[in-house]
Amino acid sequence: MPEREARHITISGRVQGVGFRPFVYRLAHQHDITGWVRNVDGAVDIHAEGLPAHLERFSAALLVEAPPLSAPGPLCITPCPTDHAEHFAILDSQSGTGADVHLPPDGFVCADCLAELHDPYNRRHRYPFINCTQCGPRYTLITALPYDRPGTSMRGFAQCPECLREYENPLDRRFHAEPIACPVCGPHLQYVSDVETFNDDEAALAAAIAALRDGKIVAVKGVGGYHLLCDATNDAAIARLRARKPRPAKPLAVMFPDVESLRRAVQVPPELEVFVASSERPIVLLTRRADTGLSEHIAPGLAEIGCLLPYSPLHALLLNDFGGPLVATSGNLSGEPVLTDNAEAQTRLNHLADAFLHHDRPIVRPADDPVYRVIAGTPRPLRLGRGSAPLELELPLHLPEPVLALGSHMKNTLCLAWGNRAVVSPHIGELDTPRSLDTLAQVAADLQRLYQVQASRLVVDRHPGYGYRRYARDSGLPLSEVWHHHAHASALAWEFPGVNEWIVFAWDGVGLGEDQTLWGGEAFTGAPGRWQRAASFRSFRLPGGDKAGREPWRAAAALLWESGQTAPSLSRKLDGSEPDRGEPVEPQCPHSADPGQASTGSGRTLHPLSTGSIAPELLHQAWTHGINSPVSSSVGRLFDAAAALCGICTHASFEGEGPMRLEALATVRPEPVDTAQESLVEGLVQFAVRPEPVEASPGSAEWGPASSPFDVPIALPLELDPLGLWRSDWAPLLPMLTDVTLSIAERAARFHLSLAQALVEQAQQLRAQTGIQAVGLTGGVFQNRVLAEAAISRLEDAGFIVRLPQRVPVNDAGLSFGQVIEFLHS
Ligand SMILES: [Zn+2]
Ligand SMILES: [Zn+2]
Repeated sequence: MPEREARHITISGRVQGVGFRPFVYRLAHQHDITGWVRNVDGAVDIHAEGLPAHLERFSAALLVEAPPLSAPGPLCITPCPTDHAEHFAILDSQSGTGADVHLPPDGFVCADCLAELHDPYNRRHRYPFINCTQCGPRYTLITALPYDRPGTSMRGFAQCPECLREYENPLDRRFHAEPIACPVCGPHLQYVSDVETFNDDEAALAAAIAALRDGKIVAVKGVGGYHLLCDATNDAAIARLRARKPRPAKPLAVMFPDVESLRRAVQVPPELEVFVASSERPIVLLTRRADTGLSEHIAPGLAEIGCLLPYSPLHALLLNDFGGPLVATSGNLSGEPVLTDNAEAQTRLNHLADAFLHHDRPIVRPADDPVYRVIAGTPRPLRLGRGSAPLELELPLHLPEPVLALGSHMKNTLCLAWGNRAVVSPHIGELDTPRSLDTLAQVAADLQRLYQVQASRLVVDRHPGYGYRRYARDSGLPLSEVWHHHAHASALAWEFPGVNEWIVFAWDGVGLGEDQTLWGGEAFTGAPGRWQRAASFRSFRLPGGDKAGREPWRAAAALLWESGQTAPSLSRKLDGSEPDRGEPVEPQCPHSADPGQASTGSGRTLHPLSTGSIAPELLHQAWTHGINSPVSSSVGRLFDAAAALCGICTHASFEGEGPMRLEALATVRPEPVDTAQESLVEGLVQFAVRPEPVEASPGSAEWGPASSPFDVPIALPLELDPLGLWRSDWAPLLPMLTDVTLSIAERAARFHLSLAQALVEQAQQLRAQTGIQAVGLTGGVFQNRVLAEAAISRLEDAGFIVRLPQRVPVNDAGLSFGQVIEFLHS
């Protein structure tokens, strides 16, 4: 008979906080193995004794049968002397050095816990904080690793005898479930309004439901922060929420009780249902149906709604009891990180919420909801957050030293990287407020402490005005600077390691470029560490610089002035002020020979927007002399200009409003021109912000006959500039965009197609020059599905291989990771 032997097995990867040790315990019993298992830093250590054949089967099963939430790395197995162990034991965690920590993200309730939640005979029936080893909060409640109860925000809750019994029983599914809780010993709800307070779970829930039914706004503490909830079918409630926040037009997310109710309101492709219902419970942008019963104020002017399903047992109960969809928007002040602390929320959200539903489980760190959009058939992240962050990624090479990349100024995330690992933080937000910068510092410290890695260098954007520059200076660490669009291109390139040579289009708002102008419509050839700018757009000066991002009329003025095109006076000024009811204002175009010029070469009347009434004379003077009018080649600003010239958005109430509305209009089926013109006279905005919800998408049969002018792009001249850069000229778009004989939908559609066509022509020139076949699309502009899909299909028709990011956000939230990749290769 063979002798019992011993092995030391180490497993790294995501093996803590996911029920891995109980799994090892059960497996050991199954295979007649004695010894022990314990957590050591980020890994699981096993001492296993048994017959050689049993040891082999046991080792194989460790990987093959691993729990669903885990992601074990390769096993490291070494023979060792036997201890003649009689049993298999789970030992306390041991903290050592050389950490290889992996943090599990937060997950929705598993099926077993959900069944218990709804089982009247279970002791956790309707308990809002039910969880087990396979579900519940993780990242947002871990204070320290290794992952043990004292290292979570559950430390303050002493387990009752029954919970302790489950926790200590290796055969129980809550064995070592660190956040284990029940109504006797765990966290509880508290409802607070001006007139009443309830500390009992059921009473608090009932009061919150009653308030919601009554059209009230309730701030609800969730897993990674507070949400503001209100009835998604109640116009008045939503109007109040918008007025208070203030958030006049930015789309609001909607939480649905279940997949059935979701299907009734929006189109959910079957393959997407699994994703929406996954334990991450993300917000997914989905096309709304007609007659959804949802308020029109949820996403004015847009065809899509951000939808999610309940992501915690508390939300499952709330939505179940309420029985209909609820608006669920982040409980924060505009642009700031989501609030997590009860007292702070009560104070800072007091003017927004009519009532509060708190609970007493502390949130250790904020995590906003993750957001995805389906483009070319694949859900792609627009924002990382609860359930998807921290995003742990593997690097192709070893970093020479640990670095912290600080990302962008907008949509900020951080990326901590060491060895061959990189970790991207959840969404922090715009770095315009002291609170955002505090959060950045907090997340930076927190990531380094949790992963037990100290960055010895910071990687930052080249832009000297980004909000984190002061933090970077104060850190005293050496800085490495990376160009904005190189970082975008490198993040994309990392996702597709099979491609060695790229043509990458990095189109976004603005980022500082190598020639000190504001780039945003660039094409590069090469690969990480050696990007070459190869194509761009005709540049223009942006009057007012930074202000242009929120005031699309400035970009419109820039294009009109730059190209010497003008338009007659009109009923509505571009700057939003009331028009003068008198003589048309003299156009102020510096390049125009004829200041009264009111038509283009095509003989069509330009849209009634006068350059003269666009802006005060002073601004034009400043622009003429290049004062506070930085040179830009941004496609994001071309979208802004197009939205303004079509009259649908001259002042944006949130970043990207103009482009988003323009895209929504581009998906509206053709309408008779008369209707559009009437609307123009009545007020462009009414028409523009309320497109009929449509089921059709571009390219479908309803999109109009093949000969429809909707399908005809405007050719943009492409020429080599003196520096050898291919540049497309946007000027021919202006007459079309301002042509009032065309419906706004048609102009919007043709604008998208024209840019897609220009992109393909640039790619063809660059392929002819370099032989490169692979095209990547990155930068915030490619969150635009109409543009991205039009570009992809045209590129593929032209024989290109096309790639769009799907793991790291295409917008500035992916910049921190791209900075690490670019640093790695430089
Ligand atoms: Zn569970
Ligand atoms: Zn208990």
